[in-house]
Amino acid sequence: MNVVTCPHCAAANPEYSKFCNQCGQQLTAAPTVVSPAAPHVLPMAQPASGKAVAALVLGILSLVLAGFTAGFFTGIPAMILGKLEKDEIAAGRAPVSGKSLARIGFWLGLAGTVISGIVVIALIIFLLARVGAVGPFGHWPHA
Ligand SMILES: [Zn+2]
Repeated sequence: MNVVTCPHCAAANPEYSKFCNQCGQQLTAAPTVVSPAAPHVLPMAQPASGKAVAALVLGILSLVLAGFTAGFFTGIPAMILGKLEKDEIAAGRAPVSGKSLARIGFWLGLAGTVISGIVVIALIIFLLARVGAVGPFGHWPHA
């Protein structure tokens, strides 16, 4: 009897099985041989996708820009890219090696966005204090 080797866990399944008995993953049409052309079977050694790298770079930029209140410019795209890439990896459509890059990019983007928000709020408080200095609330110490 022919068997179909599961590309996910390498368990042998009866011929014409649609799903793996071991892990429940869908089996490919090609039995026993895992074709390198199969789009959803990516080897671990494959380098991270451009999207994962982009998420990381945007995340780092976001932290840098956060000091200038502009972290969300790249922080939000970093979060979106990181999230999309995590989904792609989970679905097996992107190399696993990009997983940590995507995750770090996501969190850096979030941090950059949050820090930008804090900087903006601090600036607003500072400016309000300056306005207050010439308003009815007294004088700014030495401005
Ligand atoms: Zn399996």
